[in-house]
Amino acid sequence: MSKIKVMDEALANKIAAGEVVEKTMNVVKELVENSIDAKASIIKIELIDSGVREIKVIDDGIGMDRDDAILAFSRHATSKLKTLDDLFNINSLGFRGEALPSIASVSNVYLKTSDGITGTELTIEGGKIKEVLSADLKKGTTITVTNLFYNTPVRLKYLKSLYTELANITDYVNKMALSYPNRKFILKNNDKELLNTSGNGDLLKTILNIYGVVVASKMLKIAGENNDYKISGYISYPELTKSNRSSITLLINNRVVKNYEVVKAILESFHTYIPKDRYPYAVLNIEVDPFLVDVNVHPTKMEVKFSKVDSLLNLIYETISNKLSAKTLIPKAIQDNVEDNYYKDLESKDLEVNDNLYDYQNAEESKQEKTKKNLTEITFDFSNSASNTKDNGHQEVEEDARIKNMYPIGIVHGTYIICENELGMFIIDQHAAAERINYEKYYHALSTHSKNTIDVLIPYKIELPSHEYLILEQNFHILDNLGFKYEEFGNNTIIIRSHPTWLPKYAPLEAIKKIIDIIIKEEDFDEEKFNEKVAITLACKMSIKAGDVITLPDMTYLINQLKKTKNPFTCPHGRPTIITYTKYDLEKLFKRAM
Ligand code: ZN
Ligand code: ZN
Repeated sequence: MSKIKVMDEALANKIAAGEVVEKTMNVVKELVENSIDAKASIIKIELIDSGVREIKVIDDGIGMDRDDAILAFSRHATSKLKTLDDLFNINSLGFRGEALPSIASVSNVYLKTSDGITGTELTIEGGKIKEVLSADLKKGTTITVTNLFYNTPVRLKYLKSLYTELANITDYVNKMALSYPNRKFILKNNDKELLNTSGNGDLLKTILNIYGVVVASKMLKIAGENNDYKISGYISYPELTKSNRSSITLLINNRVVKNYEVVKAILESFHTYIPKDRYPYAVLNIEVDPFLVDVNVHPTKMEVKFSKVDSLLNLIYETISNKLSAKTLIPKAIQDNVEDNYYKDLESKDLEVNDNLYDYQNAEESKQEKTKKNLTEITFDFSNSASNTKDNGHQEVEEDARIKNMYPIGIVHGTYIICENELGMFIIDQHAAAERINYEKYYHALSTHSKNTIDVLIPYKIELPSHEYLILEQNFHILDNLGFKYEEFGNNTIIIRSHPTWLPKYAPLEAIKKIIDIIIKEEDFDEEKFNEKVAITLACKMSIKAGDVITLPDMTYLINQLKKTKNPFTCPHGRPTIITYTKYDLEKLFKRAM
């Protein structure tokens, strides 16, 4: 009788394993979280072949006595393990207690544990305890899981490649290290060390351990709070980006979670500071009453939902954008050798970050800048922004102290303006700078619904293919909102009699055609998105291009206008407008200073 019961249990464990332990990552996760629950201060994870052959987790935690060690692998005693130090204070990890027996049912497990009073060694095969021995008394737990999935060949087939498994595990352990900067994490695969954190409680130090010196030296500390939430952590300078969002770590009360809306709020605060397909580094801890968090959305994926989510998103957006807008963000042409004492004990083991620094992949823009230039379009919109700033509704922004006065000296490759001041040498991309100025001007005019219009002497006649005209006809209200005066003229033709004053004066027809083009292509009209698109498109197509000849006074004017923008450091596509060689950089390069 009892034998049958055991069989049933083994079967039940296998079924449960399918839900819980479908990846080596989940096994690592379970074991590491047990170590954390055991209050370990050092957690060492050693893998062979990404964990498929062997996963060993060694900790110096409180350990277990003999009875608890045996109970830990019995399905009926799982409630024992559910007394977790659960930081959410809710049932976020409902599967937890079942995971150890589930893991044991699809692998061989060797456990050595000691609570300092008794030491125990267990050998478990296929979910059954084979041997119980006494062990030495060194406090802590070592658990070795070998031949994972050995008795479930089908599942083994579905395991992703070893590399992907390892990437997932590394990502997970990195994030655990960020959640618990006061614990030391060591991760090895086939004897190669992938992570070794200091565990001294300093989050920036952990960032350094994970991402390397270059990243750690370009992080900005952030903090903010409102009635519901308190946030703290680090974000990267906009010049430091990645091609995916894997370096954004979210923590709630120091526990790693995922939340799409929060990531989106972070990205929105970086809007136009970084290219659209690039992502910042961020470690954001959200402190909140667990009452406002719902983790039951998907416990194994760590996805959460927030009550009062707008309150949180506003706080994040405000905190990050205020931080960015208070900083001088001119990237240095020469990267510092970060050698101060803080970092000296560590070598940079960051492999990809350097390559990423200026790896902007916005090929579209550079392509378009290489195409043949149409001279009628190529003028910086001096006339408009120079004098009548009040008339065209462009708000005068207080001169930005983030950029000191600088004086143009000349131009390189017809594109890069060389300037200087007492701090060093600056190089400005004339197109990117003009684009930033015009983008902010157009965006401001659009979003404040500036209705000043100007009549054209000879009305513009625009004829469209009939299917496009039909779409335009349905969207005439957009033209009305923008302040255009127009009339329909026969078949598929519109006549423009007056247009908003903020359009570039030297080529209003081109601009109008581009706006109509956007209206026709825009699917679900959303005013903010539309304004953004019009502002970026006009700024990009109607500003001076690379290679356009400008004079020294033009350069001075351009610099002064750039200084007045809200974000003078990047163009609306997130590329830098300005970089610098500091005086010290130059002295170092010429070996005047060492
Ligand atoms: Zn452009
Ligand atoms: Zn641009």
